[in-house]
Amino acid sequence: MYAFFQGKIVPLADAKISIMTHGFLYGYGAFEGVRGNWNEAERQVYIFRAKEHFERLHYSAKAMHIKLKYSVAELTDIATKLVEKCDFHEDLYLRPTIYKSDEAVANLNARSIGDDFLMLAVKLANYMDPNRPIHCQISNWRRTADSSISPRVKSTGVYINSILARTEAVQSGFDEAIMLNQAGHVSEGSGENLFIISKGKLVTPSEGDDILSGITRASIMELARNELHMETVERSIPRGELYSAEEVFLTGTAAHLTPVGMIDHRPVGDGKIGPITNKLQQAYFDAIRGRNKKYSAWTTPVYATAAAR
Ligand code: PMP
Repeated sequence: MYAFFQGKIVPLADAKISIMTHGFLYGYGAFEGVRGNWNEAERQVYIFRAKEHFERLHYSAKAMHIKLKYSVAELTDIATKLVEKCDFHEDLYLRPTIYKSDEAVANLNARSIGDDFLMLAVKLANYMDPNRPIHCQISNWRRTADSSISPRVKSTGVYINSILARTEAVQSGFDEAIMLNQAGHVSEGSGENLFIISKGKLVTPSEGDDILSGITRASIMELARNELHMETVERSIPRGELYSAEEVFLTGTAAHLTPVGMIDHRPVGDGKIGPITNKLQQAYFDAIRGRNKKYSAWTTPVYATAAAR
């Protein structure tokens, strides 16, 4: 395995940081999770929405006083070269990360500490089985408020919030946690945005409800409009509405589109994958694997295409 580390692609075993690294000691960094999706018929890996992921990384960098010296185009190039070097011919997950790389202890002034960028790649099939509706727990942990550590910034440290919520859910026998925000409105899963079908309408928490503005979320909204002629309503969702929703599903880079069959021991609809969830899931998988060429602007091929070979 390989990683992009300190300006070049090196064997993963050689990509090491010191225990004095500020980003490690304080959890001060930000990252992206990016998928490479395998298309068996074309024997191709398609990186999904690289541009949007690297634009969001630039936003995180700006919000966190981290210098990111590579442009969106350069980052996309690093991503494709890294996957090629790893020679992955299956679904994978890229983890571009920016962090405070100086060895700095007892320094809380971000602007005085140096930065670096790294990217690693791992094989990753399903994070959750997209064919099995999951059982979610409304977490005891509230989503971090934008007034404390903004959930819009994909910072490494803020994931303690997600990890506590997911750990508690799994330990209690659930598959995943759904967090409410400080106001008690539905926010998101530990690593996914949430959608419901309520009285026939597709609804998702608004960006003001302390969510990460998900790239899968945006893609699903576009697919719903184009393929199902459904507009998505972005508004606050009270907890109680989850129990009356006809369908519920989660969206995220790792989790893809995962149907929710039960929340707090109450079935969602009949507990099976609902018709709208099913249609959106099909459309989504066709788009991310490069099978629907209408969405080819979303996918970056890693290997030379058959025509060029
Ligand atoms: N919310 C959280 C907390 C997440 O970690 C993720 C995964 N990045 C998402 C939502 C979904 O975002 P995206 O679709 O961009 O992966």
